[in-house]
Amino acid sequence: MIVMKFGGTSVKDTDSLTNVAEIVAQHIDNKPLVVLSAGAGVTDTLINIARKAAATDIQSALENVATLRERHFATAKTLLKGEYLNTVLQAFTKQFEELDMLIKGVSILQELTPRVLDHFMSFGEQWSCLLLEQKLLQYGNKAGWIDSREVLITDNDFKNATPLFDVIENRVRQYIFPLIQKSTIVVTQGFIGATQDGITTTIGRGGSDYSAAIIGSLLEAREIQIWTDVSGVLTANPGMVPDARPVREMTFNEAAELAYFGATVLHPSTILPAISKKIPVRVLNSNRPDDEGTLITANDVHGKRTVQPNGDDVIKSIAHRTGITVIRIQSTRMLMAHGFLAKVFEIFARHKKSVDVIATSEVGISLTVDDQLNIDRIANELDDIADVSVLPEKAVISIVGEHLKKVLGIAGRAFTALGNAGVNVELISHGGSEINLTFVISEDQVKDALPALHSEFFSKTTKSEGREIST
Ligand code: ASP
Ligand code: MG
Repeated sequence: MIVMKFGGTSVKDTDSLTNVAEIVAQHIDNKPLVVLSAGAGVTDTLINIARKAAATDIQSALENVATLRERHFATAKTLLKGEYLNTVLQAFTKQFEELDMLIKGVSILQELTPRVLDHFMSFGEQWSCLLLEQKLLQYGNKAGWIDSREVLITDNDFKNATPLFDVIENRVRQYIFPLIQKSTIVVTQGFIGATQDGITTTIGRGGSDYSAAIIGSLLEAREIQIWTDVSGVLTANPGMVPDARPVREMTFNEAAELAYFGATVLHPSTILPAISKKIPVRVLNSNRPDDEGTLITANDVHGKRTVQPNGDDVIKSIAHRTGITVIRIQSTRMLMAHGFLAKVFEIFARHKKSVDVIATSEVGISLTVDDQLNIDRIANELDDIADVSVLPEKAVISIVGEHLKKVLGIAGRAFTALGNAGVNVELISHGGSEINLTFVISEDQVKDALPALHSEFFSKTTKSEGREIST
């Protein structure tokens, strides 16, 4: 069996839901279990409605509900017909009545507890599931919606509840497994769970990927598919590098490294349950279902295969992050002395400041931090032991790939490409991990640096031209 999770943009309207139904139906032989998000923007709107209700802004809350109601009723009416439409309209009517009552209740109490907010947020995923379940049935498939609150049992840390794997395992066996065995397409909500007493919980914003990974790992799925609106993890940010393309395959470690840079379409920690059971995770594009997407696996293909001497398939992606501040700390007292670095890091630790890229020399240390918070205080304290300069508006660029270190010449190629593009590298960190070559440049040079690196490592034409000249 496989798990197919569709995100908000893939279920946002009639066309996208029709498309999802078709994609799912095509995978029928793989015994799919479908995990859905709320339609794009729906969860945010539900949160707004709840907050307005608590602020006694009932008028505006009810207007927002009316918009959601119109949107979902209109989708149902164009997506479905006959008995399938009636089933959905009846359920929607009841759910929207409940939402109206909730608004009134919260506005009387003027208090929005996390528990109540979870209840508000739980509607969006139910609406998507109802619509898709009925569409699949209308197409003549065997399909059934299992309310995730029967299965995804959590603790009662509302808004950010922790799934109770042992309990979920039993529920999956009890409710889902028999249906899958009978080749019924199971549809269920991502993100939504319940306590053992049946009180609705949510597992953290964007939690549908996590839901899919939990259920998929317990069912020992052959594959977990994350369907979104891009064709996988890209070789660079397409806003900066127009010819960025999807990475075919990457390891979980590489995905995790990229996640720090916000370069991935999914956060690796959410697919940990899948990775620990070695279930491959594939990122796919519901608008272009034939695209291959990106396959993320626990296995490292290069562990078994010899790395190409030119390293071309070692580099997976070039990530970047802006808004970085470099702190340069210099002291002649560091020379031959012990304890200097400890003092420096103690100051950062006390201010709960995380340090990312670090480079040291005999007389100094340069490091980067993500934001400006507490920087002045930290600089003041550092001033007592060293000369300090704070250099804002920097960017970190990271070339990511397992076994980068095993390939000769990558750093040379990278810095030559940057030099030719007129980019000045201010700080380099290589060797901290096998998996990245990271350096800091000025923020306004990112637009030159990324295309230069991308064409060096990913554009075949540029490279073969280069070889022709050199041979
Ligand atoms: N609908 C939820 C959210 O917007 C969960 C998800 O989409 O993954 O956070
Ligand atoms: Mg999402």
